[in-house]
Amino acid sequence: MKIGTPREVFEGEARVAMTPDSALQLQKLGHACIIETGAGDKAGFSDAAYKEAGVEVAESREALYAAADVIAKVRAPSDEEAKLLRKDQTLISFFNPAGNGELLELCKEQGATVLAMEMIPRISRAQKMDALSSMANIAGYRAVIEAGNNYGRFFTGQITAAGKVPPAKVLIVGAGVAGLAAIGTATSLGAITYAFDVRPEVAEQVESMGAEFVYLDFEEEQADGASSGGYASVSSPEFREAQLAKFREIAPQMDIVITTALIPNRPAPKLWLEDMIASMKPGSVIVDLAAERGGNAEGTVPDERVVTDNGVIIIGYTDFPSRMAAQASSLYSTNVRHLLADLTPEKDGVINHNMEDDVIRSATVTREGEITFPPPPLKVA
Ligand code: NAD
Repeated sequence: MKIGTPREVFEGEARVAMTPDSALQLQKLGHACIIETGAGDKAGFSDAAYKEAGVEVAESREALYAAADVIAKVRAPSDEEAKLLRKDQTLISFFNPAGNGELLELCKEQGATVLAMEMIPRISRAQKMDALSSMANIAGYRAVIEAGNNYGRFFTGQITAAGKVPPAKVLIVGAGVAGLAAIGTATSLGAITYAFDVRPEVAEQVESMGAEFVYLDFEEEQADGASSGGYASVSSPEFREAQLAKFREIAPQMDIVITTALIPNRPAPKLWLEDMIASMKPGSVIVDLAAERGGNAEGTVPDERVVTDNGVIIIGYTDFPSRMAAQASSLYSTNVRHLLADLTPEKDGVINHNMEDDVIRSATVTREGEITFPPPPLKVA
């Protein structure tokens, strides 16, 4: 099969779904590779580097779509891109099938098979294809770098001839994949790091990464805000009040707050409220990784950097992985390559779209002119 990767058309998107390295690996599976000219430019991969890795370069998007059997890209296709898909062609990309009904319908009408990267089940066997986690890891790391870039002081404490510098205090709200990456990064830069999550089971992970877990003064402990199937669910009003009271108490001491709290299929919970922001020191920084889903902080504006009246900087960028396009492309293309490896069990360049395979079944959202989303519940946990 020929695997093709176009240039991303979404404004500002710098990632690419195939790198010269991943192309070499795809060729070991028996596939040929093709990119649209310039596809890797913004991520630092030149056409020449692809050619050296044995990749063909198509001169236009139309030529790429016409030549490829499988289209691998990062963002869900635009309508124009979807209309280039054809019967017997497979698309692999992020797709957000739950929120993209019309696009799903369009791909069905085109007769294409679509595998949505965010539908890869989060089970051990599929970790190597888990693009949500690899992108969340980058977002968590980059959030700390972005905070450091905006914070006018050191993270680490220092005793210098010119005076003593206290370490920055960093609070991470939500200790999922992004939050844990942020904890690791902030701690390694020398900050004193605190973290909170409604799932009490993450306290140990938080502490093992060098942060202090923030416990609430709540009689039923964190358990009430906790989990369903490893994910957070909506907290009770009493739990939420205890959480907000704790945040109010610690807000004036925090120099940097990174919020990552999400509940599947719901808007981001509002957790860092105006009065907490008003109590923070001038020059403090909030990075709201939940901005795309409405934000955890009041005053977050998606894709903007806002400075409040009291001098607190609120960053609501929604493109953190794209801001580290080289790294994000390397990890994403590896996730895609692993999915293609599972689709090519004989390593003979022939795709075997095995709908009996839980991982492939879950990711498949359209197949041969039918919508196959949502998938049935997983057979294995
Ligand atoms: P996410 O991005 O959906 O949410 C981020 C975090 O926000 C979660 O830890 C959640 O508990 C927390 N949160 C929600 N409401 C909150 C609130 N009010 N206050 C504070 N925190 C709040 O999460 P994620 O990073 O995608 O991962 C979450 C779950 O998925 C975890 O159980 C994780 O172990 C699991 N997971 C499994 C795999 C795998 O097995 N392959 C991979 C990744 C994640």
